Formats: sequence, C-alpha cells, structure tokens
Amino acid sequence: MAESGKHHIAIPVESTDQHTILPVTVVTGLQPGPVLLVIAGIHGSEYAPIVAGQRFGMALDFRTLTGTVMIVHMANLPAYLGRTVYTSPVDGLNLNREFPGNAQGSLSQRIAYTLTNKLYPLADAVLDVHSGDGNEDLRPYWTGYYARAGSADVIKRSKSLAFAFGMQHVVPFEWELGKSANAIWAGSAAVAMGIPSIDVEAGGSGVVDAQAVKLLTEGFNRTLSHLGMIRQRYPSPTGQRIIFDRQSVKSPLSGSWVSLKAAGETVMAGELLGYVTDWHGRTVFEARSPKDGLLMLRLSAPPVSQGETLVVVGSTKSHAGDAP
Ligand SMILES: [Zn+2]
Repeated sequence: MAESGKHHIAIPVESTDQHTILPVTVVTGLQPGPVLLVIAGIHGSEYAPIVAGQRFGMALDFRTLTGTVMIVHMANLPAYLGRTVYTSPVDGLNLNREFPGNAQGSLSQRIAYTLTNKLYPLADAVLDVHSGDGNEDLRPYWTGYYARAGSADVIKRSKSLAFAFGMQHVVPFEWELGKSANAIWAGSAAVAMGIPSIDVEAGGSGVVDAQAVKLLTEGFNRTLSHLGMIRQRYPSPTGQRIIFDRQSVKSPLSGSWVSLKAAGETVMAGELLGYVTDWHGRTVFEARSPKDGLLMLRLSAPPVSQGETLVVVGSTKSHAGDAP
C-alpha cells in the first residue's frame, strides 16, 4: 500500500482501440489498518455518488486515519462524459453486468477486470455506490447486502456494513451466487472473492441531490468509524427498516412513458402508476402496481425500450431488535 498521505492517481485502462482512466484518490493513514474501497460512477449519470466521493476524498485527513481508503471517483468515465444511462457509449455494455471483467474484452469489460484484479485484492470492504440513473427517480435511499451469497462470515460483515452506513432503509438481496457467472455486479463480484461488500443507492434523476450527497458522505464516515479507521463515534441509527419483496413492472414494448406517481409514495395493488404510449401518443400499456407497497423506483423520463423496468414496488418492515 502507498505510503502515508493523500495521492490522486489515474489508473489507465486500455482496449485495442480505446482507452480511459480510473481517477482514484488513495488516502493512507499513519497507522496500518483496514483498506476500504469506495466505487462511484459505475453508471456515469449517477451524480450524487460521484460528488459525494470527491468531497469525501478531499475532506479525508490521513493524519487521523488508520488504514487506507481508496475512492474510485468515476469507474465509467466514458459514460460520464457521454452522459449515457445504463450503458457505455463506447461498447454499449452495462458495466455493472460485466464483472468480474475480461482482460482481453471491450473497454467496459477491461474496466471491470482492472477493478477486480488491481483494487479488489487490496480491499477489506467494498462500497459500490449508485443512485437512480439519469432517468430514474429513486426513494427511499438505501443500502443493500447479499444475504445469501458468500460465507457466513462475509454475509455477517456485509450486513453490519449495510446497517452501519446509517440509511433508514436496508435491502437484503436474496440472490444466491452459486456460480461465479452470477457475480456480474461489482458488489457480488467482491462477495465472490470473499470481500464484504454493500451496494448504496442515493440520489437520481440526473441531478446532484444535496440531501443524497450529505447522506452519502455521512455514510462513508460512519463506515470508517464502524471499521475502526477513525476515532469519531456515531450514535447507532434508529428506526431502520427492511425492504423486501421488490416487484417490478416492465414495459412490454418500446414507447414513451408517462409517470403518474413519484418514488417514495405509498401505492395500492392495481393502482395506475403510469402508462406507455406509442410514438403518436396513443396509450398502449398501463402500468399498474403489482401489490400494496412503496413505489421505490420509477422512470422519470419518457424514453423506454421493450423489457425495461418502469416501476419497482417494495414492502417494508421494522428492523427493531435485530441490530447486528
Ligand atoms: Zn447504478
């Protein structure tokens, strides 16, 4: 690991005909300790995580830090500069479906490979930080952990990280990762390598949401405290809730989405949440809530392609008494 201090570096990623960099801030404390890897900008139009990561890196003081923090500010610089949602303008791939990557693949696959081969092996914990994408309204903000993937120890430590981050809502992912082929996400790829990991989701709709940035920077510092990397202590979060049984409605055809509800609203089974029109404005699909619950995610912009998610409705329950 680098010597004590703050280092701003650029890790090159090259494919046969493209190249990019990973802008990384490495802050190494005076005392050795855990290594925390924070990844922002896997989706280039998710701005709150990117801004929060930059502010966190600028504010971190190596003299009061134990261990090392590595912050990847923009894992997907081509998508950031190209202002694309979901995918890279360079190869059309969704970086968060390309883990653990491929050293001989396209640029997105090589970005994933660089992360899992150069940075993951150094890390004791990985935070993969997202928001709603540029066209997605997301509420509430949450952290998620793999509740069924990895060893019991990794699950326990991931769960602790998810709650310690301090968001009011936590999602236990129920997916199992029996095969390495399932570790296609940045977070699950970490778990598959035996590294505790959480996903963080705050912000969205292509704006820098000030409240999301604040919650994220606070969550990063809470994580440092939880891992014993700073002396500051935070009161335990109270009233945290579990999100479960998330159900989505996908568009059966390409068209224009008209949204009737905002994320964070309570909805009822069968309630009309929005509709899709054809190119001339004629309604061709009604999106109705699959259940009573909380509208957690909705498209906030009109374009939709066949098979894409329009809305996600989830349920919540109290986490009281089950604190890790
Ligand atoms: Zn994302």
